Amino acid sequence: MTTLAIDIGGTKLAAAQVGDNLQIVSRRELPTPASHTPQALAGALKSLIQPLLPGAVRIAVASTGIIHQGVLTAINPANLGGLAAFPLVETLSALSGLPCVALNDAQAAALAEFHALRVPVQEMVFITVSTGVGGGLVSGGKLLIGPGGLAGHIGHTQADPHGPRCGCGRIGCVEAIASGRGIAAAASGNLQGLDCKTIFSRAAWGDSQACELVAHSARTLAALIADVKALTDCECAVVGGSVGLAEGYLAQVRGFLAEQPAAFQTPLRAAHYRHDAGLLGAALWAQGVTR
Ligand SMILES: [Zn+2]
Repeated sequence: MTTLAIDIGGTKLAAAQVGDNLQIVSRRELPTPASHTPQALAGALKSLIQPLLPGAVRIAVASTGIIHQGVLTAINPANLGGLAAFPLVETLSALSGLPCVALNDAQAAALAEFHALRVPVQEMVFITVSTGVGGGLVSGGKLLIGPGGLAGHIGHTQADPHGPRCGCGRIGCVEAIASGRGIAAAASGNLQGLDCKTIFSRAAWGDSQACELVAHSARTLAALIADVKALTDCECAVVGGSVGLAEGYLAQVRGFLAEQPAAFQTPLRAAHYRHDAGLLGAALWAQGVTR
């Protein structure tokens, strides 16, 4: 029973046939259309999935943005900006003739990471720190989606009321400060205009401003994790994403979290999956599997 899983991100679209034991049989990628129009996205999805349709019995989509009743809305206009209300499930059902489910990509990744935990827990938070900051919550062993699809969007909780405006419209979100984009935007002087990856290499060489930018991100993330612990009593926090998994980053988050009172600390784990958590989590969701 092959699931055709699709991951819609701000820069690339991925699709794969996923078997019942979560094995990826074949995988394809295309760049996300730059125009971000509904027509361009529908066209790209069509050419992405067509070679993978034979043998598939269902479609499972993980997508950036808020997914509510199968409709995609971009929370941050910088990601998929033109897609105010893209009928994701309807479009893919029509293209394939197969049943289709869709959920947010970080929610899907949270489910995949929950499934991959070696020690089973009931309460878990997943946070991905890359260009943005995404999240997903598992409570009572179940992924939280929420009636409107917003559950777990913890990157848009407020870290600093005097902080920069976030792409979502709020002020001082964790995403606006801790994400790769936030780190790059805060750079000044000799680091101004550099991307986050370069700032991380400068930090590795000992540049003091770069070290402080990375530390500020890690400190902000640790405070978020303490807040989530207070909210959910999570038994662990799983951290992923290109920033989250960058060398030395998780150790810094762990150090800042250790400065919090003991009640607000929780074990931190590096994400098990680097690239396919969205695809696999969507497949798990479609299969109705949690653990
Ligand atoms: Zn925000």
